[in-house]
Amino acid sequence: MREARPFRPWKESPRLVEHPRRDRTELWTRTAAAPPAVYGERWSDAPGGPYRTFDPMRAKLAAAIVRGWEGDLPAERERWLYLGAASGTTASHVADLVGPDGAVYAVERSLRPFARLLALGERWPGLLPVLGDAREPRSYSALVPPADGLYADIAQPDQIAIVLSNARLLLRGAGAPVLIALKTASMGRDASAPEHLRRAEGELEPVLALERSVKLDPFHRGHYLVGGRARAALFDDGPRPRARRPPERSRGPRRS
Ligand code: SAM
Repeated sequence: MREARPFRPWKESPRLVEHPRRDRTELWTRTAAAPPAVYGERWSDAPGGPYRTFDPMRAKLAAAIVRGWEGDLPAERERWLYLGAASGTTASHVADLVGPDGAVYAVERSLRPFARLLALGERWPGLLPVLGDAREPRSYSALVPPADGLYADIAQPDQIAIVLSNARLLLRGAGAPVLIALKTASMGRDASAPEHLRRAEGELEPVLALERSVKLDPFHRGHYLVGGRARAALFDDGPRPRARRPPERSRGPRRS
């Protein structure tokens, strides 16, 4: 399990590290869980660990980091809402990033992957599986406290509308990050991938202060990571189910 080369914090992150190899630099997440592997990732008990490889071929969030995403990432002690958790490949890494004192509310509607997600929830502190339909956020809003961030990977034609309805209802307020693994192939054949991206950015721009989107090719063809911090305008429409708690941690200057 031991690796000879160093594990260095990635941009000062305590739970995301880079590990130089001869031909590339790998990303790893620091975990509070114990083996076995979730999807064949490698584990290391190097000092500060244990760590798990965060594979850009398997996790779009890792691919986005490798492709130069400069926006927010899940950080230690935060609460994130994760839409489309499937069997937990990426959600387990998001749980690593927020650490044992954070939480990931991982929503999945399909029973088969959800059964595997439930089993991971037994092993991962802070990984909280929610069986539900992301088109109906009110059906699980009582289970999810105001979230510091939202990550979505649901590959649906109406993915932007789904994300925004969840963000309005369940994010803690302006400044909270929203990250979307945008699958352009799910958005219809009437436009190219870059055109779908432009349309999505156009829909999001009034309510999110967008970061520069990154293309996830060659790791995930036709996908982009799109997102930014919620503007106050996101919360202008529609009632919220409960009083919003004030943000517990500052994320630097707000751009809303
Ligand atoms: N995020 C996962 C990962 O990286 O490990 C992969 C997610 S897969 C691309 C998309 C998932 O979204 C599927 O498991 C699917 O069942 C789920 N999904 C699609 N529509 C959904 C909805 N309306 N509500 C909840 N889950 C949904």
